Amino acid sequence: MELKVVTPIIELKQLRNCFRCGLEFRGDSQRVCPSCAVPKDIQRPLNPTLSFREKQVVELVCKGKINKEIAFALHLTEGTVKEYLNRIFRKVGATNRTELAVWSITTTRIAEIVQNGPALMAN
Ligand SMILES: [Zn+2]
Repeated sequence: MELKVVTPIIELKQLRNCFRCGLEFRGDSQRVCPSCAVPKDIQRPLNPTLSFREKQVVELVCKGKINKEIAFALHLTEGTVKEYLNRIFRKVGATNRTELAVWSITTTRIAEIVQNGPALMAN
């Protein structure tokens, strides 16, 4: 009689501890459990850390200032303003200043609601 050993795939996978939350899960080479493996884009914080200077630039962009005006206001060169903008775009995931302004207004509003409670949402 031939003995057939059928090992379920799941048994081949090692039991591991999630690198992040410590939860036990089965996986081949993953270091984090499925729930921690959620795409980073989704986990991208609403509030990336902007430096003081970057925040100033964002504020001026929201006021509709062009690079030349921002450079003048912050005593920077236009080239430096562009560098700041590109870095900020990457940080917040925006592709242009309109998106950046929308991002800024939205996150500011969310921060206000978090701080002051949902009562303000009606405004
Ligand atoms: Zn996990």
